[in-house]
Amino acid sequence: MIIDMHCHIDLYKNPQEVIKDCIESDIYVLSVTTTPKAWKITNDIAKDAKKIRTALGFHPQIIAQRYNELELFDELLPNVKYVGEIGLDGSRECLDTFETQLSGFRRIIKSIHQRGGRIMSIHSRNAAETVLSELHNVNGISILHWFSGSKTELTTAINQGCWFSVGLPMLKSKKGKEIVSHIPKGKILTETDAPFTKHDGNISMPWDIELIFPELSNIWHSSIEDTKEQIFSNFKTLVINNNMKEDIIS
Ligand code: MN
Repeated sequence: MIIDMHCHIDLYKNPQEVIKDCIESDIYVLSVTTTPKAWKITNDIAKDAKKIRTALGFHPQIIAQRYNELELFDELLPNVKYVGEIGLDGSRECLDTFETQLSGFRRIIKSIHQRGGRIMSIHSRNAAETVLSELHNVNGISILHWFSGSKTELTTAINQGCWFSVGLPMLKSKKGKEIVSHIPKGKILTETDAPFTKHDGNISMPWDIELIFPELSNIWHSSIEDTKEQIFSNFKTLVINNNMKEDIIS
């Protein structure tokens, strides 16, 4: 079984077909959403797929224009074990909404904390320091998706017990490789961030996760088999430690 820990299945043109292919190829997918309103339908279309989990999300680039959906987020939270994509985006084009993003993110993680924590897929582009300080001591597990922070921020994240989901674009870049080489092997999971990413000019698909293993093998100086086994074992650790054994499929 391979694992795509951050994929926007609902944003493909043909989500149903993608789901069918994921079932056939035995792929575990954390299907992240970008708005609370998208959660129900995204969850419904995957209800027959045992290995697809739908996360309740509110993307930092969207939260400011749909702020009133925070109420729906709180309403839905008791139904879900996974939250994502949430976080902050401090890129230049998002700076005008940063304060709103921050107040929304604070509300979200406060709700999560009060409900005992969740497994969270976190966006932290150009905002890792703030994201990490907000998440400090919050109940739950943070999986930093496509982490691109500084060395200091990386050290803070590792010390806070964060997990990391890494994809092909990250592993193809010099900075990304450098980051991955400093993360403890046991805290790494794989992701596509599809359909926002491309491979050889085509939109990435969850089964493109296979392309990640040779890259990770190079960094770890391990065989592709051992690399795959390490990622699967990391995933098992994550779900067993969080009482989600039903997510384990042998
Ligand atoms: Mn994403």
